[in-house]
Amino acid sequence: MKNNDCLFCKIIDGSIPSAKVYEDEKMLVFKDIEPKAKVHLLAVAKNHFKSLSEMDDEQSELVKYMLVKIPEIAENNGCENGYRLVINQGGDAGQTVFHLHIHILGGQILDW
Ligand code: AMP
Ligand code: ZN
Repeated sequence: MKNNDCLFCKIIDGSIPSAKVYEDEKMLVFKDIEPKAKVHLLAVAKNHFKSLSEMDDEQSELVKYMLVKIPEIAENNGCENGYRLVINQGGDAGQTVFHLHIHILGGQILDW
């Protein structure tokens, strides 16, 4: 389901432009507008849900689907030597967009 107030839902429906690197019927991967590493991609499920803490069974299947797809997408986009996945959950982690997304960071050696 789409949320009309959600930035990433607008990116998914194309009303806000993005640099897409992968799309299928369930997920979209696009470049982060303020990259924190040489490669910084965001993977989102097309169905809106807010965060890990709100996930139902169907949504957890979508997260699993994305995790299975991400290795090939990352390797095809400059992360052949490795990458880091990050999910910011809630305020203390600095989550700013409340549509669950997986950060894919790589293209360089990453400090911990
Ligand atoms: P988070 O802080 O985990 O909620 O991550 C939100 C991410 O979305 C940040 O890394 C932002 O740089 C990124 N972001 C915000 N607006 C856009 C946009 N229009 N296109 C691409 N990435 C965006
Ligand atoms: Zn959304």
